[in-house]
Amino acid sequence: MIDICLLGTCGMMPMPGRWLSCVLLRNGSTLTLFDCGEGTQVPWKALGWGFRQLGAICFSHMHADHVAGLPGVLFMVAHAGRTEPLDIYGPVGTGYVVEGLRRIAAELPFEIRIHEMRGGEEFPLPGNLYGSCAAATHGIPCLAYRVELKRQPAFQPDKARALGLPVQLWSRLQHGETLEFQGQRIRPEQVLGEPRRGIALAYITDTRPTAALSAFARDVDLLICESMYDNPEDLPQARANAHMLAEESASIAREAGARELILTHFSPKINDPTYAEKAARRVFSNTRAARDGMVVTLQFR
Ligand SMILES: [Zn+2]
Ligand SMILES: [Zn+2]
Repeated sequence: MIDICLLGTCGMMPMPGRWLSCVLLRNGSTLTLFDCGEGTQVPWKALGWGFRQLGAICFSHMHADHVAGLPGVLFMVAHAGRTEPLDIYGPVGTGYVVEGLRRIAAELPFEIRIHEMRGGEEFPLPGNLYGSCAAATHGIPCLAYRVELKRQPAFQPDKARALGLPVQLWSRLQHGETLEFQGQRIRPEQVLGEPRRGIALAYITDTRPTAALSAFARDVDLLICESMYDNPEDLPQARANAHMLAEESASIAREAGARELILTHFSPKINDPTYAEKAARRVFSNTRAARDGMVVTLQFR
């Protein structure tokens, strides 16, 4: 099970009552943050998930509306008593920006490990999650992220009994270990069922739509995607600023075969995201416009 909170929904600048677009993901007790705009710590505090378990931050890119909240969040994590390392992932240039922001959050009781990527990398995230990234198109280095929680095949007790395996050995096989029993090698596949579908989600923001991004988000349970503009007349502006219309985000969801689309990163001039939601639904019906603080739970199907 994965819980996801849309801490904010605004692009470019925070607005009264609306925070900047970023996403907090909880798996078990662990936390991963996607983007960290100015003031991110405020809705996070209201959410009540705590700060200590933050194990990773994934930055899409180095525009202020996605990074300027970092010193405050680092302070909150330190204040909550974290001493374990914190991994920061982002595009090329992340180290330079994070080092600058660290000058006002210099004394931290934990190590920060920076990982710069170009797209195509795979990397571990807290709580046994698998992360991967793809290059987005935004004028500066920018990454889209995919997160997967794998699901073990079901254990088949009748197969284990047929092999004469004592119950004490079952859980080792269940967790993927090959073992010796009465001179025979027993592989997990011998006592496990068919592969099972896990949970997958993608976070795509600050980009033009591309076929590569649709392929990257293939079959996700949830696509969280920017919707900077809600009016088709804004297409020239969307192209010029390397952002998307709501229906362009919806076209990514449709081409990817996503299960659900949640729109976020609305332009400050969008007061009511219902229009973006309606526009997107014409292309991809299972769409919702995010509201600040919205929580979604993804479970194994
Ligand atoms: Zn942005
Ligand atoms: Zn941007």
